[in-house]
Amino acid sequence: MCGIVGFSSLDRPACVPLVNGLRRLEYRGYDSAGVALESPDGIKVFKKTGKVAELDKLLKERLGDEENAKCTIGIAHTRWATHGLPTEVNAHPHVADGGRLALVHNGIVENYAALRAQLEKKGCSFVSQTDTEVLAHLVAVFDRGDFLSAVSRALKKVEGTYGIAVISTRHPGEMVVARKGSSLVIGIGEGSTVVASDVSAIVAHTRQVIYLKDGDVARVTPGGVDIYTLDNVPVSREVQEVEWDAESVEKGGYEHFMLKEIFEQPETLRNTIRGRLDKVNCTAILSGLNLPPRELASIRRAVIIGCGTSLHAGMAGKYLFESLADIPTSPEQAAEFRYCNPIIGPDDWAIAVSQSGETADTLAAVRESIGKGALVSAICNVVGSTIAREAGRGVYLHAGPEISVASTKAFTSQVTVLAMIALKLGRARRLSREDGASICAELAALPDLVAKVLERNGDIAKVAEKYSGASDMFFLGRGILYPTALEGALKMKEISYVHAEGYQAAELKHGPIALLCEETPVVALLNDIPGKEKTVGNVQECRARKAPVVGIVTEGDESAAAHCNDVVYVPRTSAVVAPIVTVVALQLFAYHVARLRGCEIDQPRNLAKSVTVE
Ligand code: GLU
Repeated sequence: MCGIVGFSSLDRPACVPLVNGLRRLEYRGYDSAGVALESPDGIKVFKKTGKVAELDKLLKERLGDEENAKCTIGIAHTRWATHGLPTEVNAHPHVADGGRLALVHNGIVENYAALRAQLEKKGCSFVSQTDTEVLAHLVAVFDRGDFLSAVSRALKKVEGTYGIAVISTRHPGEMVVARKGSSLVIGIGEGSTVVASDVSAIVAHTRQVIYLKDGDVARVTPGGVDIYTLDNVPVSREVQEVEWDAESVEKGGYEHFMLKEIFEQPETLRNTIRGRLDKVNCTAILSGLNLPPRELASIRRAVIIGCGTSLHAGMAGKYLFESLADIPTSPEQAAEFRYCNPIIGPDDWAIAVSQSGETADTLAAVRESIGKGALVSAICNVVGSTIAREAGRGVYLHAGPEISVASTKAFTSQVTVLAMIALKLGRARRLSREDGASICAELAALPDLVAKVLERNGDIAKVAEKYSGASDMFFLGRGILYPTALEGALKMKEISYVHAEGYQAAELKHGPIALLCEETPVVALLNDIPGKEKTVGNVQECRARKAPVVGIVTEGDESAAAHCNDVVYVPRTSAVVAPIVTVVALQLFAYHVARLRGCEIDQPRNLAKSVTVE
């Protein structure tokens, strides 16, 4: 999920280009970094938690000039931990074959536990908690001559995603790289070949690049590259010229990180769901929760604690927990919760939601809940973050680093995790196999449903053009779509500075309707799920006050569309996944309004990414 750099030259030392490459990848967010260099007397590994600058310092202290000059091939990594704490031992590269082989990996090995058990039986000893270390041992076990074949054979055993680079002193001068689900690019330079997880680490060397495709495995040497399928069939891949400058390269060609992250959501949701849906038993596998069905069945009440976007995810969680598992659930704003002497105890389950895992108020609420004997779990994106550690059990989002201050992909992953927890809870209590199976199928389809909303980007931009001059907006949602309305309004406020309010559709007439006029657009969530007809009634109330209405409407639902001035279509879904699919349209709407208003989208005024003060 984070960064890989590889460098291969006949005569140029690899160390400096590797470290510079890692620096170009720093924007992706990471928790530790490492380098492995191939020298005539073996592989040398250097690792450090924290910033690349620390690793650079270590290399300057420990790597003599003479040695440096001899190391012309190497691999490097910035890690964004998914399995195991962000420690030096867990940092990449990982070694095997008595230190003769070193490997770096981006992604997740889903079946690592089974592979690790098999490898341990064969006598391999493991030093880290990572899923990645199995890859290093697996390649070593298959290495009987041809390096590339060994890597291919190992990868055939792997379920999950990977971008990898491997070197071995048994194969001097050769580096093998491969990808499935994690990007990997090869830069063809003069007398050197550079590998990286994105082009931003390559453009300093060359603009001639090859984008590997999923399932490709390549032998990289100073003179170039040979590419094969995992079945050893040679393939040719076009050499392309990169036209972007370094800054736009970091954003993957998108104008802003926020837009990049909105568009990443099919991929991030795939990562959140990966390996977690049990289609046989029609439930979710969330081993990090560490709660046997007996304990799940005895929970009396759930409290979902968060701030901002995470609180909105918790509010959606309430509907999911109550409708699928019959568990009374209260979403709680963390600061309010911690100071209101909360009534919480051993029969209650406190679930803390925080993207960074460092949110000060949420952390305090976790401590308060632990102190009162509640069962506590965390839903975080950052592995090993304080909240994740102190809660001791939970579910990671696996959404990758979120750079934009306004959260997008973390929200959709948070709600998806809460839906999976609700499914698991429901199946342990009252949900039938049939209902469980249909929820599994909907969750599995989520990445494609979200991709369909992204296809509407152009339409959404056009609607945004009509309303970008507004100074006030309302967002209306009912039931499970109410938290989505709040989140849509929050995105609008955060990045466009338009005053926006989210309301329960029925609540508007109890006061705020006094504000409606031609100048106050109303965004109404009219998805075709139970309650829609009532919301259509609320839309009519708005139209009667001359407020223009933008409807988020299910594809093909022309009768709902007829009530709106403008329409954004979203695919048909059940209520369970509707908040996730719908919010993507609202994220894009807020984005385009902010863009048209000329706002600083990635660094909105007054906001910080991780709120570590009360
Ligand atoms: N899953 C691996 C780990 O936790 C790789 C993480 C990454 O892509 O940075 O070490």
